[in-house]
Amino acid sequence: HYDVLIVGAGHGGAQAALMLRQQKFEGTVALLGDEPEPPYERPPLSKDYFSGEKPFERILIRPATFWSDRNIDLLLSRRVTAVDPAAHKVTLADGSTIGYGKLIWATGGSPRRLACEGHGVKGVHAVRTRADVDQMMTELEATSRVVVIGGGYIGLEAAAVLAKFGKHVTVLEALDRVLARVAGEPLSRFYEAEHRAHGVDVRLGVSVDCILESDGRATGVKLADGTVLPAEMVIVGIGIIPAVEPLLAAGAAGGNGVDVDGQCRTSLPDIFAIGDCAAHDNAFAGGARIRLESVQNANDQATIVAKAIMGGDEQYHAVPWFWSNQYDLRLQTVGLSTGHDAIVTRGDPAARSFSIVYLKGGKVIALDCVNATKDYVQGRALVVGGIAPALDQLADTEVPLKSLAG
Ligand code: FAD
Repeated sequence: HYDVLIVGAGHGGAQAALMLRQQKFEGTVALLGDEPEPPYERPPLSKDYFSGEKPFERILIRPATFWSDRNIDLLLSRRVTAVDPAAHKVTLADGSTIGYGKLIWATGGSPRRLACEGHGVKGVHAVRTRADVDQMMTELEATSRVVVIGGGYIGLEAAAVLAKFGKHVTVLEALDRVLARVAGEPLSRFYEAEHRAHGVDVRLGVSVDCILESDGRATGVKLADGTVLPAEMVIVGIGIIPAVEPLLAAGAAGGNGVDVDGQCRTSLPDIFAIGDCAAHDNAFAGGARIRLESVQNANDQATIVAKAIMGGDEQYHAVPWFWSNQYDLRLQTVGLSTGHDAIVTRGDPAARSFSIVYLKGGKVIALDCVNATKDYVQGRALVVGGIAPALDQLADTEVPLKSLAG
Protein backbone atom coordinates (compact mmCIF):
# COMPACT_ATOMS: atom_id res chain seq x y z
CA HIS A 1 0.00 0.00 0.00
CA TYR A 2 1.19 3.49 -0.84
CA ASP A 3 -0.31 6.80 0.18
CA VAL A 4 0.27 7.95 -3.39
CA LEU A 5 0.73 5.48 -6.23
CA ILE A 6 1.76 6.95 -9.57
CA VAL A 7 1.19 4.76 -12.62
CA GLY A 8 3.46 5.65 -15.53
CA ALA A 9 7.07 6.65 -14.88
CA GLY A 10 7.43 9.13 -17.75
CA HIS A 11 7.42 12.92 -17.76
CA GLY A 12 4.20 13.48 -15.83
CA GLY A 13 4.72 10.67 -13.33
CA ALA A 14 8.27 11.72 -12.50
CA GLN A 15 7.28 15.35 -12.07
CA ALA A 16 4.34 14.41 -9.82
CA ALA A 17 6.63 12.38 -7.54
CA LEU A 18 9.27 15.05 -7.26
CA MET A 19 6.72 17.84 -6.79
CA LEU A 20 5.07 15.90 -3.95
CA ARG A 21 8.39 15.76 -2.13
CA GLN A 22 9.14 19.37 -2.99
CA GLN A 23 5.76 20.30 -1.45
CA LYS A 24 6.87 18.39 1.67
CA PHE A 25 4.47 15.47 1.25
CA GLU A 26 5.59 12.99 3.90
CA GLY A 27 3.53 9.91 3.03
CA THR A 28 4.73 6.91 1.03
CA VAL A 29 5.09 7.39 -2.71
CA ALA A 30 5.67 4.83 -5.48
CA LEU A 31 6.37 5.56 -9.13
CA LEU A 32 5.41 2.49 -11.15
CA GLY A 33 6.08 2.05 -14.86
CA ASP A 34 6.22 -0.67 -17.47
CA GLU A 35 9.54 0.37 -19.01
CA PRO A 36 12.78 -0.96 -17.47
CA GLU A 37 14.53 2.45 -17.25
CA PRO A 38 14.15 5.08 -14.56
CA PRO A 39 12.28 8.16 -15.86
CA TYR A 40 13.91 9.68 -18.93
CA GLU A 41 13.12 12.48 -21.38
CA ARG A 42 11.19 11.43 -24.44
CA PRO A 43 11.81 14.40 -26.81
CA PRO A 44 15.48 13.45 -27.47
CA LEU A 45 14.33 10.04 -28.79
CA SER A 46 13.70 11.62 -32.19
CA LYS A 47 16.45 14.25 -31.80
CA ASP A 48 19.84 14.11 -30.10
CA TYR A 49 19.53 10.64 -28.55
CA PHE A 50 18.66 9.15 -31.94
CA SER A 51 21.51 11.08 -33.59
CA GLY A 52 23.94 9.80 -30.97
CA GLU A 53 24.78 13.28 -29.68
CA LYS A 54 23.42 12.52 -26.21
CA PRO A 55 24.03 9.24 -24.38
CA PHE A 56 21.19 7.74 -22.37
CA GLU A 57 22.57 8.97 -19.02
CA ARG A 58 22.14 12.54 -20.21
CA ILE A 59 18.46 12.15 -20.95
CA LEU A 60 17.51 10.82 -17.51
CA ILE A 61 15.02 13.20 -15.88
CA ARG A 62 17.02 12.91 -12.64
CA PRO A 63 20.13 10.88 -11.73
CA ALA A 64 19.23 7.28 -10.88
CA THR A 65 19.85 7.78 -7.13
CA PHE A 66 17.56 10.82 -6.90
CA TRP A 67 14.43 8.74 -6.34
CA SER A 68 15.64 6.58 -3.47
CA ASP A 69 17.26 9.64 -1.87
CA ARG A 70 13.79 11.16 -1.66
CA ASN A 71 12.08 8.02 -0.49
CA ILE A 72 10.26 7.47 -3.76
CA ASP A 73 9.94 3.76 -4.60
CA LEU A 74 10.62 3.08 -8.28
CA LEU A 75 8.66 0.01 -9.36
CA LEU A 76 9.89 -0.58 -12.91
CA SER A 77 9.02 -3.17 -15.57
CA ARG A 78 5.56 -3.46 -14.03
CA ARG A 79 2.27 -2.90 -15.76
CA VAL A 80 -1.10 -2.07 -14.25
CA THR A 81 -3.90 -4.01 -15.93
CA ALA A 82 -6.88 -3.16 -13.73
CA VAL A 83 -8.02 -0.55 -11.23
CA ASP A 84 -10.52 -1.16 -8.44
CA PRO A 85 -11.64 2.30 -7.29
CA ALA A 86 -13.90 1.01 -4.50
CA ALA A 87 -11.16 -1.09 -2.90
CA HIS A 88 -8.47 1.52 -3.75
CA LYS A 89 -6.14 -0.99 -5.37
CA VAL A 90 -4.59 -1.79 -8.72
CA THR A 91 -3.81 -5.17 -10.25
CA LEU A 92 -0.56 -5.76 -12.12
CA ALA A 93 0.10 -7.99 -15.12
CA ASP A 94 1.59 -10.66 -12.82
CA GLY A 95 -1.65 -10.80 -10.81
CA SER A 96 -0.31 -9.02 -7.72
CA THR A 97 -2.13 -6.03 -6.26
CA ILE A 98 -1.05 -2.71 -4.73
CA GLY A 99 -3.28 -0.56 -2.55
CA TYR A 100 -3.30 3.24 -2.74
CA GLY A 101 -4.65 6.26 -0.95
CA LYS A 102 -4.47 8.48 -4.05
CA LEU A 103 -3.76 7.23 -7.57
CA ILE A 104 -2.11 9.40 -10.23
CA TRP A 105 -2.58 7.98 -13.71
CA ALA A 106 0.25 9.19 -15.98
CA THR A 107 0.47 6.55 -18.66
CA GLY A 108 0.84 8.59 -21.85
CA GLY A 109 -0.17 6.63 -24.91
CA SER A 110 0.89 3.85 -27.20
CA PRO A 111 1.82 4.55 -30.80
CA ARG A 112 -1.00 4.17 -33.27
CA ARG A 113 -0.19 1.22 -35.57
CA LEU A 114 -0.88 0.93 -39.24
CA ALA A 115 -3.85 -1.26 -39.99
CA CYS A 116 -2.49 -2.54 -43.30
CA GLU A 117 -0.80 -5.77 -44.25
CA GLY A 118 2.78 -6.11 -43.09
CA HIS A 119 2.45 -3.57 -40.28
CA GLY A 120 3.97 -5.88 -37.68
CA VAL A 121 7.06 -7.16 -39.52
CA LYS A 122 10.66 -6.51 -38.48
CA GLY A 123 12.07 -3.22 -39.62
CA VAL A 124 8.82 -1.33 -38.95
CA HIS A 125 9.27 1.01 -35.99
CA ALA A 126 7.37 3.38 -33.77
CA VAL A 127 9.28 6.10 -31.90
CA ARG A 128 7.93 6.22 -28.38
CA THR A 129 10.39 4.49 -26.04
CA ARG A 130 14.11 4.12 -25.58
CA ALA A 131 13.72 0.47 -26.59
CA ASP A 132 12.15 1.54 -29.91
CA VAL A 133 15.07 3.84 -30.71
CA ASP A 134 17.78 1.42 -29.56
CA GLN A 135 16.29 -1.19 -31.86
CA MET A 136 16.32 1.28 -34.77
CA MET A 137 19.94 2.14 -34.03
CA THR A 138 21.03 -1.50 -34.26
CA GLU A 139 19.44 -1.71 -37.71
CA LEU A 140 20.85 1.56 -39.08
CA GLU A 141 24.08 0.19 -40.45
CA ALA A 142 22.25 -2.27 -42.67
CA THR A 143 19.82 0.43 -43.77
CA SER A 144 20.25 2.76 -46.72
CA ARG A 145 16.61 3.62 -47.47
CA VAL A 146 14.00 4.66 -44.92
CA VAL A 147 10.33 5.43 -45.42
CA VAL A 148 8.79 7.60 -42.71
CA ILE A 149 5.01 7.33 -42.56
CA GLY A 150 3.48 10.49 -41.08
CA GLY A 151 4.62 14.08 -41.53
CA GLY A 152 4.14 15.20 -37.93
CA TYR A 153 6.87 16.48 -35.63
CA ILE A 154 8.22 13.06 -34.66
CA GLY A 155 8.38 11.78 -38.23
CA LEU A 156 10.04 14.96 -39.48
CA GLU A 157 12.59 15.00 -36.65
CA ALA A 158 13.50 11.38 -37.32
CA ALA A 159 13.77 12.17 -41.04
CA ALA A 160 16.16 15.06 -40.29
CA VAL A 161 18.46 12.81 -38.23
CA LEU A 162 18.42 10.08 -40.89
CA ALA A 163 19.12 12.56 -43.69
CA LYS A 164 22.11 13.80 -41.69
CA PHE A 165 23.28 10.18 -41.48
CA GLY A 166 23.22 10.10 -45.29
CA LYS A 167 20.26 7.75 -45.58
CA HIS A 168 17.83 8.01 -48.45
CA VAL A 169 14.66 9.18 -46.71
CA THR A 170 11.10 9.42 -47.99
CA VAL A 171 8.37 11.04 -45.89
CA LEU A 172 4.79 10.05 -46.68
CA GLU A 173 1.98 12.33 -45.57
CA ALA A 174 -1.68 11.54 -46.22
CA LEU A 175 -2.82 15.17 -46.05
CA ASP A 176 -1.78 17.88 -48.50
CA ARG A 177 0.88 19.32 -46.21
CA VAL A 178 3.12 18.24 -43.33
CA LEU A 179 2.27 19.35 -39.76
CA ALA A 180 -1.28 19.98 -40.96
CA ARG A 181 -2.87 19.22 -37.60
CA VAL A 182 -0.61 21.49 -35.56
CA ALA A 183 0.66 24.37 -37.71
CA GLY A 184 -0.40 26.90 -40.32
CA GLU A 185 0.36 26.45 -43.99
CA PRO A 186 3.41 28.78 -44.17
CA LEU A 187 5.18 26.70 -41.53
CA SER A 188 4.29 23.46 -43.32
CA ARG A 189 5.62 24.76 -46.63
CA PHE A 190 8.79 26.00 -44.98
CA TYR A 191 9.54 22.59 -43.44
CA GLU A 192 8.69 20.74 -46.65
CA ALA A 193 11.21 22.92 -48.52
CA GLU A 194 13.87 22.46 -45.82
CA HIS A 195 13.54 18.69 -45.92
CA ARG A 196 13.66 18.63 -49.70
CA ALA A 197 16.77 20.83 -49.63
CA HIS A 198 18.35 18.18 -47.40
CA GLY A 199 17.54 15.47 -49.91
CA VAL A 200 14.39 14.11 -48.25
CA ASP A 201 11.70 12.99 -50.68
CA VAL A 202 8.53 14.50 -49.18
CA ARG A 203 5.35 13.10 -50.74
CA LEU A 204 2.03 14.67 -49.86
CA GLY A 205 -1.52 13.40 -50.26
CA VAL A 206 -0.39 9.79 -50.51
CA SER A 207 -1.81 6.77 -48.76
CA VAL A 208 -0.15 3.52 -47.88
CA ASP A 209 -1.49 0.28 -49.27
CA CYS A 210 0.78 -2.12 -47.40
CA ILE A 211 4.27 -2.86 -46.08
CA LEU A 212 6.13 -5.22 -48.39
CA GLU A 213 8.13 -7.95 -46.73
CA SER A 214 10.41 -10.85 -47.32
CA ASP A 215 11.04 -13.52 -44.64
CA GLY A 216 9.32 -11.36 -42.03
CA ARG A 217 11.42 -8.26 -42.72
CA ALA A 218 10.20 -5.05 -44.34
CA THR A 219 11.48 -4.53 -47.88
CA GLY A 220 9.44 -1.48 -48.78
CA VAL A 221 6.15 0.34 -48.81
CA LYS A 222 3.49 0.06 -51.47
CA LEU A 223 1.29 3.12 -52.01
CA ALA A 224 -2.39 3.06 -52.90
CA ASP A 225 -1.53 4.18 -56.47
CA GLY A 226 0.71 1.15 -56.88
CA THR A 227 4.04 2.94 -56.43
CA VAL A 228 6.61 0.79 -54.63
CA LEU A 229 9.20 2.47 -52.41
CA PRO A 230 11.95 0.01 -51.49
CA ALA A 231 13.22 0.43 -47.93
CA GLU A 232 15.05 -1.51 -45.25
CA MET A 233 13.41 0.52 -42.49
CA VAL A 234 9.93 1.98 -42.04
CA ILE A 235 9.17 4.48 -39.29
CA VAL A 236 5.55 5.03 -38.35
CA GLY A 237 4.69 8.35 -36.70
CA ILE A 238 0.93 8.63 -36.95
CA GLY A 239 -0.02 9.60 -33.41
CA ILE A 240 -0.82 7.86 -30.17
CA ILE A 241 -3.74 6.16 -28.50
CA PRO A 242 -4.03 7.25 -24.87
CA ALA A 243 -3.34 4.36 -22.48
CA VAL A 244 -6.47 4.56 -20.37
CA GLU A 245 -8.26 1.21 -20.81
CA PRO A 246 -7.96 0.15 -17.14
CA LEU A 247 -9.46 3.45 -15.98
CA LEU A 248 -12.30 3.42 -18.52
CA ALA A 249 -12.99 -0.23 -17.64
CA ALA A 250 -13.25 0.87 -13.99
CA GLY A 251 -15.92 3.38 -14.98
CA ALA A 252 -13.98 6.62 -15.45
CA ALA A 253 -15.58 9.19 -17.75
CA GLY A 254 -13.66 9.63 -20.96
CA GLY A 255 -13.22 8.34 -24.47
CA ASN A 256 -10.35 10.12 -26.13
CA GLY A 257 -8.26 9.80 -22.97
CA VAL A 258 -9.76 10.14 -19.51
CA ASP A 259 -11.72 13.24 -18.56
CA VAL A 260 -10.33 15.42 -15.79
CA ASP A 261 -11.38 18.63 -14.07
CA GLY A 262 -9.30 21.75 -13.43
CA GLN A 263 -7.31 19.93 -10.73
CA CYS A 264 -6.86 16.83 -12.91
CA ARG A 265 -9.35 14.74 -10.92
CA THR A 266 -11.04 11.97 -12.87
CA SER A 267 -14.67 11.04 -12.20
CA LEU A 268 -13.40 8.20 -9.92
CA PRO A 269 -12.68 8.94 -6.25
CA ASP A 270 -9.04 9.71 -5.36
CA ILE A 271 -7.87 9.11 -8.93
CA PHE A 272 -6.13 11.87 -10.88
CA ALA A 273 -4.88 11.75 -14.47
CA ILE A 274 -2.20 13.90 -16.09
CA GLY A 275 -0.20 14.31 -19.28
CA ASP A 276 -0.86 12.90 -22.74
CA CYS A 277 -3.76 10.75 -21.50
CA ALA A 278 -5.73 13.49 -19.70
CA ALA A 279 -8.60 15.22 -21.55
CA HIS A 280 -9.10 18.62 -19.96
CA ASP A 281 -10.85 21.90 -20.73
CA ASN A 282 -8.08 24.16 -21.95
CA ALA A 283 -8.49 27.93 -21.73
CA PHE A 284 -5.98 28.40 -24.55
CA ALA A 285 -8.13 26.23 -26.82
CA GLY A 286 -11.15 28.45 -26.14
CA GLY A 287 -12.23 26.14 -23.34
CA ALA A 288 -12.46 23.07 -25.58
CA ARG A 289 -11.82 19.64 -24.10
CA ILE A 290 -8.49 18.47 -25.49
CA ARG A 291 -5.49 16.30 -24.77
CA LEU A 292 -2.11 17.98 -25.11
CA GLU A 293 0.91 15.90 -25.98
CA SER A 294 3.76 17.98 -24.60
CA VAL A 295 6.27 18.01 -21.79
CA GLN A 296 4.89 21.36 -20.64
CA ASN A 297 1.41 19.92 -20.17
CA ALA A 298 2.64 16.77 -18.38
CA ASN A 299 4.84 18.76 -15.99
CA ASP A 300 2.33 21.50 -15.25
CA GLN A 301 -0.54 19.09 -14.66
CA ALA A 302 1.72 17.02 -12.37
CA THR A 303 2.40 20.16 -10.35
CA ILE A 304 -1.32 20.93 -10.08
CA VAL A 305 -2.01 17.41 -8.77
CA ALA A 306 0.81 17.52 -6.22
CA LYS A 307 -0.64 20.79 -4.91
CA ALA A 308 -4.19 19.38 -4.91
CA ILE A 309 -3.03 16.39 -2.86
CA MET A 310 -1.43 18.84 -0.41
CA GLY A 311 -4.82 20.53 -0.05
CA GLY A 312 -4.34 23.37 -2.53
CA ASP A 313 -7.03 24.62 -4.88
CA GLU A 314 -4.96 25.83 -7.86
CA GLN A 315 -6.59 25.15 -11.23
CA TYR A 316 -4.74 24.19 -14.40
CA HIS A 317 -4.26 27.30 -16.52
CA ALA A 318 -0.78 26.97 -17.99
CA VAL A 319 0.19 28.50 -21.33
CA PRO A 320 0.96 25.68 -23.78
CA TRP A 321 4.47 25.61 -25.23
CA PHE A 322 6.40 23.15 -27.31
CA TRP A 323 9.56 22.84 -29.38
CA SER A 324 10.98 20.85 -32.28
CA ASN A 325 14.56 20.57 -33.54
CA GLN A 326 15.19 19.72 -37.19
CA TYR A 327 18.57 20.31 -38.86
CA ASP A 328 19.79 23.68 -37.54
CA LEU A 329 16.22 24.90 -37.06
CA ARG A 330 14.87 25.42 -33.58
CA LEU A 331 11.12 25.79 -33.57
CA GLN A 332 9.50 27.09 -30.39
CA THR A 333 5.76 27.43 -30.12
CA VAL A 334 3.56 29.15 -27.57
CA GLY A 335 -0.23 29.03 -27.39
CA LEU A 336 -2.49 26.81 -29.50
CA SER A 337 -3.14 27.74 -33.12
CA THR A 338 -6.21 25.55 -33.68
CA GLY A 339 -9.20 27.63 -34.70
CA HIS A 340 -7.16 30.60 -35.96
CA ASP A 341 -8.77 32.79 -38.62
CA ALA A 342 -5.72 34.83 -39.62
CA ILE A 343 -1.98 34.35 -39.94
CA VAL A 344 0.80 36.94 -40.00
CA THR A 345 4.30 35.99 -41.08
CA ARG A 346 6.86 38.01 -39.18
CA GLY A 347 10.26 38.02 -40.86
CA ASP A 348 11.39 36.22 -43.99
CA PRO A 349 11.32 32.41 -44.02
CA ALA A 350 14.09 32.53 -46.65
CA ALA A 351 16.35 34.04 -43.97
CA ARG A 352 15.57 30.96 -41.82
CA SER A 353 14.57 33.09 -38.86
CA PHE A 354 10.91 34.10 -38.67
CA SER A 355 7.67 33.66 -36.75
CA ILE A 356 4.16 32.74 -37.72
CA VAL A 357 1.61 34.57 -35.59
CA TYR A 358 -1.90 33.09 -35.33
CA LEU A 359 -4.91 35.25 -34.59
CA LYS A 360 -8.54 34.61 -33.83
CA GLY A 361 -11.02 37.48 -33.90
CA GLY A 362 -8.07 39.86 -34.11
CA LYS A 363 -6.39 38.51 -30.96
CA VAL A 364 -3.07 36.68 -30.91
CA ILE A 365 -3.63 33.04 -29.87
CA ALA A 366 -0.31 31.42 -30.78
CA LEU A 367 3.15 31.83 -32.29
CA ASP A 368 5.41 29.38 -34.08
CA CYS A 369 8.93 30.82 -33.94
CA VAL A 370 11.74 29.39 -36.08
CA ASN A 371 15.20 30.42 -34.91
CA ALA A 372 13.48 33.42 -33.34
CA THR A 373 13.72 32.95 -29.60
CA LYS A 374 13.14 36.62 -28.89
CA ASP A 375 9.71 36.48 -30.57
CA TYR A 376 8.93 33.30 -28.66
CA VAL A 377 9.81 34.86 -25.31
CA GLN A 378 8.11 38.18 -25.98
CA GLY A 379 5.13 36.73 -27.85
CA ARG A 380 3.98 34.83 -24.81
CA ALA A 381 2.55 38.01 -23.29
CA LEU A 382 0.48 38.59 -26.43
CA VAL A 383 -1.05 35.12 -26.10
CA VAL A 384 -1.65 35.37 -22.36
CA GLY A 385 -3.13 38.86 -22.64
CA GLY A 386 -5.24 38.06 -25.71
CA ILE A 387 -3.75 41.18 -27.31
CA ALA A 388 -5.09 42.47 -30.65
CA PRO A 389 -2.19 44.35 -32.27
CA ALA A 390 -2.19 46.15 -35.60
CA LEU A 391 -1.24 43.55 -38.22
CA ASP A 392 1.35 45.71 -39.95
CA GLN A 393 3.15 46.20 -36.64
CA LEU A 394 3.00 42.49 -35.93
CA ALA A 395 4.63 41.77 -39.28
CA ASP A 396 7.35 44.38 -38.78
CA THR A 397 10.48 42.82 -37.26
CA GLU A 398 11.69 46.31 -36.36
CA VAL A 399 8.83 46.43 -33.84
CA PRO A 400 9.67 44.23 -30.83
CA LEU A 401 6.69 42.09 -29.78
CA LYS A 402 7.00 43.27 -26.19
CA SER A 403 6.15 46.78 -27.32
CA LEU A 404 2.79 45.46 -28.58
CA ALA A 405 1.87 43.69 -25.35
CA GLY A 406 0.23 46.79 -23.87
P1 FAD B 1 4.98 9.42 -20.98
O1 FAD B 1 6.17 10.28 -20.82
O2 FAD B 1 4.79 8.70 -22.27
O3 FAD B 1 5.01 8.34 -19.80
C1 FAD B 1 4.05 7.34 -19.67
C2 FAD B 1 4.70 6.08 -19.13
O4 FAD B 1 3.68 5.20 -18.65
C3 FAD B 1 5.44 5.30 -20.20
O5 FAD B 1 6.68 4.87 -19.70
C4 FAD B 1 4.52 4.12 -20.46
O6 FAD B 1 5.22 2.99 -20.96
C5 FAD B 1 3.96 3.88 -19.09
N1 FAD B 1 2.70 3.10 -19.03
C6 FAD B 1 1.67 3.14 -19.92
N2 FAD B 1 0.67 2.32 -19.51
C7 FAD B 1 1.09 1.75 -18.35
C8 FAD B 1 0.50 0.80 -17.44
N3 FAD B 1 -0.71 0.31 -17.64
N4 FAD B 1 1.22 0.42 -16.34
C9 FAD B 1 2.46 0.95 -16.13
N5 FAD B 1 3.06 1.83 -16.95
C10 FAD B 1 2.38 2.24 -18.04
N6 FAD B 1 7.00 17.07 -26.23
C11 FAD B 1 7.50 18.33 -26.21
O7 FAD B 1 6.97 19.15 -25.44
N7 FAD B 1 8.53 18.70 -27.00
C12 FAD B 1 9.13 17.82 -27.86
O8 FAD B 1 10.06 18.19 -28.58
C13 FAD B 1 8.66 16.48 -27.89
N8 FAD B 1 9.23 15.55 -28.69
C14 FAD B 1 8.83 14.24 -28.61
C15 FAD B 1 9.51 13.28 -29.34
C16 FAD B 1 9.13 11.93 -29.25
C17 FAD B 1 9.87 10.91 -30.04
C18 FAD B 1 8.04 11.56 -28.43
C19 FAD B 1 7.61 10.13 -28.33
C20 FAD B 1 7.36 12.51 -27.71
C21 FAD B 1 7.75 13.85 -27.78
N9 FAD B 1 7.10 14.85 -27.05
C22 FAD B 1 7.56 16.14 -27.04
C23 FAD B 1 5.90 14.53 -26.25
C24 FAD B 1 6.25 14.29 -24.80
O9 FAD B 1 7.31 13.39 -24.71
C25 FAD B 1 5.02 13.74 -24.09
O10 FAD B 1 4.01 14.70 -24.18
C26 FAD B 1 5.32 13.42 -22.63
O11 FAD B 1 6.24 12.37 -22.54
C27 FAD B 1 4.02 13.06 -21.93
O12 FAD B 1 4.28 12.64 -20.61
P2 FAD B 1 3.34 11.55 -19.92
O13 FAD B 1 3.82 11.42 -18.53
O14 FAD B 1 1.95 11.88 -20.20
O15 FAD B 1 3.63 10.21 -20.74
